[in-house]
Amino acid sequence: MNRKLRILVVEDEAAIRTGLVDVLVFHGYEVDWAEDGSSGLNKALNGGFDLILLDVMLPGVDGFKICNQVRAADRDQPIIMLTARTSDEDIIQGLSLGADDYVAKPFSVAQLVLRVQAVLRRARATLALDKRIQLGDELELDAANLCGRRGEEVLAFTRREMDILQYLHANAERPVSRDELLHKVWGYARDADLETRTVDIHIAKLRRKIEADPGTPRYLTTVRGAGYRLLTDS
Ligand code: CA
Repeated sequence: MNRKLRILVVEDEAAIRTGLVDVLVFHGYEVDWAEDGSSGLNKALNGGFDLILLDVMLPGVDGFKICNQVRAADRDQPIIMLTARTSDEDIIQGLSLGADDYVAKPFSVAQLVLRVQAVLRRARATLALDKRIQLGDELELDAANLCGRRGEEVLAFTRREMDILQYLHANAERPVSRDELLHKVWGYARDADLETRTVDIHIAKLRRKIEADPGTPRYLTTVRGAGYRLLTDS
Protein backbone atom coordinates (compact mmCIF):
# COMPACT_ATOMS: atom_id res chain seq x y z
CA MET A 1 0.00 0.00 0.00
CA ASN A 2 1.27 3.46 -0.86
CA ARG A 3 2.03 5.86 1.91
CA LYS A 4 -0.53 8.59 2.49
CA LEU A 5 0.27 11.86 0.75
CA ARG A 6 1.05 14.63 3.23
CA ILE A 7 -0.43 18.11 2.96
CA LEU A 8 0.37 21.22 5.02
CA VAL A 9 -2.43 23.78 5.46
CA VAL A 10 -1.22 27.29 6.41
CA GLU A 11 -4.30 29.38 7.18
CA ASP A 12 -5.03 31.75 10.07
CA GLU A 13 -8.83 31.73 9.81
CA ALA A 14 -9.89 28.89 12.09
CA ALA A 15 -13.13 28.04 10.28
CA ILE A 16 -11.47 27.77 6.88
CA ARG A 17 -8.47 25.90 8.29
CA THR A 18 -10.64 23.36 10.11
CA GLY A 19 -12.81 22.88 7.05
CA LEU A 20 -9.78 22.30 4.83
CA VAL A 21 -8.17 19.87 7.25
CA ASP A 22 -11.40 17.89 7.63
CA VAL A 23 -12.09 17.59 3.92
CA LEU A 24 -8.49 16.62 3.10
CA VAL A 25 -8.44 13.97 5.83
CA PHE A 26 -11.76 12.71 4.50
CA HIS A 27 -10.13 12.33 1.06
CA GLY A 28 -7.36 10.20 2.50
CA TYR A 29 -4.53 12.68 2.97
CA GLU A 30 -2.37 13.06 6.04
CA VAL A 31 -2.70 16.70 7.09
CA ASP A 32 -0.71 19.06 9.29
CA TRP A 33 -1.50 22.73 9.77
CA ALA A 34 -0.16 26.08 10.94
CA GLU A 35 -2.10 29.20 11.91
CA ASP A 36 0.52 31.90 11.40
CA GLY A 37 3.26 32.75 8.93
CA SER A 38 6.37 31.91 10.91
CA SER A 39 5.26 28.47 12.10
CA GLY A 40 3.91 27.84 8.60
CA LEU A 41 7.27 28.72 7.08
CA ASN A 42 9.09 26.54 9.59
CA LYS A 43 6.89 23.52 8.89
CA ALA A 44 6.96 24.13 5.15
CA LEU A 45 10.76 24.14 5.12
CA ASN A 46 11.17 21.10 7.36
CA GLY A 47 8.12 18.94 6.93
CA GLY A 48 8.69 17.11 3.67
CA PHE A 49 5.11 17.71 2.46
CA ASP A 50 3.76 16.53 -0.87
CA LEU A 51 1.73 19.74 -1.13
CA ILE A 52 1.37 23.03 0.74
CA LEU A 53 -1.91 24.97 0.80
CA LEU A 54 -0.82 28.50 1.58
CA ASP A 55 -3.01 31.45 2.54
CA VAL A 56 -1.70 34.82 1.33
CA MET A 57 -2.82 37.10 4.18
CA LEU A 58 -1.25 35.68 7.35
CA PRO A 59 -0.09 37.18 10.65
CA GLY A 60 3.71 37.37 10.71
CA VAL A 61 5.25 36.23 7.43
CA ASP A 62 2.79 36.49 4.53
CA GLY A 63 2.08 33.69 2.06
CA PHE A 64 4.03 35.24 -0.82
CA LYS A 65 7.18 35.43 1.33
CA ILE A 66 6.69 31.84 2.47
CA CYS A 67 6.23 30.72 -1.12
CA ASN A 68 9.38 32.55 -2.14
CA GLN A 69 11.50 31.02 0.61
CA VAL A 70 10.15 27.51 0.13
CA ARG A 71 10.85 27.79 -3.60
CA ALA A 72 14.39 28.93 -2.94
CA ALA A 73 14.92 25.82 -0.81
CA ASP A 74 13.05 23.35 -3.02
CA ARG A 75 12.03 24.40 -6.50
CA ASP A 76 9.84 21.32 -6.96
CA GLN A 77 7.71 21.74 -3.82
CA PRO A 78 4.04 21.78 -4.96
CA ILE A 79 2.23 24.86 -3.60
CA ILE A 80 -1.34 26.09 -4.01
CA MET A 81 -1.98 29.66 -2.84
CA LEU A 82 -5.32 30.59 -1.24
CA THR A 83 -6.47 34.17 -1.28
CA ALA A 84 -9.39 36.52 -0.97
CA ARG A 85 -7.69 38.90 -3.37
CA THR A 86 -8.46 38.16 -6.99
CA SER A 87 -6.92 40.91 -9.10
CA ASP A 88 -4.73 39.80 -11.99
CA GLU A 89 -1.77 41.47 -10.34
CA ASP A 90 -2.01 39.22 -7.32
CA ILE A 91 -2.40 36.16 -9.50
CA ILE A 92 0.67 37.12 -11.49
CA GLN A 93 2.66 37.76 -8.32
CA GLY A 94 1.69 34.35 -6.95
CA LEU A 95 2.56 32.59 -10.16
CA SER A 96 5.83 34.45 -10.63
CA LEU A 97 6.90 33.24 -7.18
CA GLY A 98 6.30 29.77 -8.49
CA ALA A 99 3.02 28.65 -6.93
CA ASP A 100 1.61 25.70 -8.87
CA ASP A 101 -1.92 26.99 -8.66
CA TYR A 102 -4.03 29.71 -7.16
CA VAL A 103 -7.50 29.34 -5.60
CA ALA A 104 -9.61 32.41 -4.80
CA LYS A 105 -11.79 32.52 -1.68
CA PRO A 106 -14.55 31.78 -1.30
CA PHE A 107 -13.89 28.45 -3.03
CA SER A 108 -16.04 25.36 -3.24
CA VAL A 109 -14.66 22.33 -1.44
CA ALA A 110 -15.18 20.19 -4.56
CA GLN A 111 -13.18 22.63 -6.70
CA LEU A 112 -10.40 22.82 -4.13
CA VAL A 113 -10.12 19.03 -3.92
CA LEU A 114 -9.92 18.84 -7.73
CA ARG A 115 -7.06 21.34 -7.73
CA VAL A 116 -5.27 19.44 -4.98
CA GLN A 117 -5.59 16.17 -6.87
CA ALA A 118 -4.44 17.80 -10.10
CA VAL A 119 -1.32 19.35 -8.60
CA LEU A 120 -0.38 16.11 -6.84
CA ARG A 121 -0.97 14.05 -10.00
CA ARG A 122 1.15 16.44 -11.99
CA ALA A 123 3.91 16.45 -9.39
CA ARG A 124 4.11 12.67 -9.39
CA ALA A 125 4.01 12.29 -13.15
CA THR A 126 7.49 11.55 -14.38
CA LEU A 127 7.64 13.09 -17.80
CA ALA A 128 10.26 11.69 -20.13
CA LEU A 129 10.85 15.00 -21.81
CA ASP A 130 13.99 16.61 -23.17
CA LYS A 131 16.00 18.38 -20.52
CA ARG A 132 17.81 20.59 -23.02
CA ILE A 133 15.89 22.73 -25.44
CA GLN A 134 17.53 24.62 -28.27
CA LEU A 135 15.55 27.36 -30.03
CA GLY A 136 17.11 28.82 -33.12
CA ASP A 137 20.77 29.79 -32.76
CA GLU A 138 20.30 32.09 -29.81
CA LEU A 139 18.30 30.27 -27.13
CA GLU A 140 19.44 27.40 -24.98
CA LEU A 141 17.27 26.15 -22.12
CA ASP A 142 18.19 23.80 -19.31
CA ALA A 143 14.96 22.27 -18.01
CA ALA A 144 16.57 20.38 -15.14
CA ASN A 145 17.98 23.57 -13.65
CA LEU A 146 15.17 25.94 -14.70
CA CYS A 147 17.52 28.28 -16.45
CA GLY A 148 18.60 29.28 -19.89
CA ARG A 149 20.55 31.69 -22.03
CA ARG A 150 19.54 34.03 -24.79
CA GLY A 151 22.74 35.33 -26.29
CA GLU A 152 24.56 36.83 -23.32
CA GLU A 153 21.42 37.12 -21.21
CA VAL A 154 20.85 34.58 -18.43
CA LEU A 155 17.22 33.51 -17.99
CA ALA A 156 15.46 31.97 -14.99
CA PHE A 157 12.20 30.05 -15.18
CA THR A 158 9.64 28.70 -12.76
CA ARG A 159 8.98 24.96 -12.75
CA ARG A 160 5.62 25.54 -14.42
CA GLU A 161 7.07 27.73 -17.15
CA MET A 162 9.67 25.12 -17.96
CA ASP A 163 7.03 22.36 -17.92
CA ILE A 164 5.07 24.32 -20.54
CA LEU A 165 8.15 24.76 -22.73
CA GLN A 166 9.07 21.08 -22.40
CA TYR A 167 5.57 19.98 -23.32
CA LEU A 168 5.37 22.32 -26.32
CA HIS A 169 8.86 21.24 -27.37
CA ALA A 170 7.84 17.57 -27.23
CA ASN A 171 4.90 18.48 -29.48
CA ALA A 172 6.66 21.04 -31.61
CA GLU A 173 5.18 19.75 -34.84
CA ARG A 174 1.63 20.83 -33.95
CA PRO A 175 -0.37 23.51 -32.13
CA VAL A 176 -1.35 22.65 -28.55
CA SER A 177 -4.65 23.91 -27.18
CA ARG A 178 -5.09 25.67 -23.83
CA ASP A 179 -7.24 22.76 -22.66
CA GLU A 180 -4.52 20.29 -23.53
CA LEU A 181 -1.94 22.35 -21.65
CA LEU A 182 -4.24 22.49 -18.60
CA HIS A 183 -4.68 18.73 -18.85
CA LYS A 184 -1.10 17.70 -19.54
CA VAL A 185 0.95 20.36 -17.79
CA TRP A 186 -1.35 21.37 -14.92
CA GLY A 187 -2.80 17.88 -14.53
CA TYR A 188 -6.42 18.99 -14.59
CA ALA A 189 -9.11 16.54 -15.62
CA ARG A 190 -10.25 16.92 -19.24
CA ASP A 191 -13.84 17.74 -18.38
CA ALA A 192 -13.04 20.13 -15.55
CA ASP A 193 -14.65 23.52 -16.00
CA LEU A 194 -11.55 25.65 -15.58
CA GLU A 195 -10.35 29.05 -16.65
CA THR A 196 -7.83 29.14 -19.46
CA ARG A 197 -6.62 32.64 -18.56
CA THR A 198 -3.88 31.22 -16.39
CA VAL A 199 -2.38 29.58 -19.51
CA ASP A 200 -2.31 32.92 -21.31
CA ILE A 201 -0.67 34.63 -18.33
CA HIS A 202 2.10 32.03 -18.36
CA ILE A 203 2.59 32.27 -22.12
CA ALA A 204 2.87 36.07 -21.85
CA LYS A 205 5.50 35.74 -19.13
CA LEU A 206 7.44 33.18 -21.16
CA ARG A 207 7.43 35.43 -24.21
CA ARG A 208 8.89 38.26 -22.18
CA LYS A 209 11.74 35.93 -21.25
CA ILE A 210 12.54 34.11 -24.47
CA GLU A 211 11.44 36.47 -27.23
CA ALA A 212 13.46 39.44 -28.45
CA ASP A 213 10.14 41.09 -29.34
CA PRO A 214 7.37 39.54 -27.18
CA GLY A 215 4.69 41.27 -29.28
CA THR A 216 5.89 39.45 -32.40
CA PRO A 217 7.02 36.05 -31.13
CA ARG A 218 9.35 33.97 -33.28
CA TYR A 219 9.32 30.83 -31.15
CA LEU A 220 6.29 30.78 -28.87
CA THR A 221 3.63 31.44 -31.45
CA THR A 222 -0.15 31.67 -31.32
CA VAL A 223 -2.12 29.55 -33.78
CA ARG A 224 -5.47 31.26 -34.08
CA GLY A 225 -8.33 29.13 -32.85
CA ALA A 226 -5.98 26.25 -32.04
CA GLY A 227 -3.64 27.29 -29.25
CA TYR A 228 0.12 27.66 -29.00
CA ARG A 229 2.95 26.21 -30.99
CA LEU A 230 6.66 26.22 -30.33
CA LEU A 231 8.84 26.79 -33.37
CA THR A 232 12.29 25.42 -32.63
CA ASP A 233 14.07 26.79 -35.65
CA SER A 234 13.07 30.14 -37.06
CA1 CA B 1 -5.76 34.87 6.09
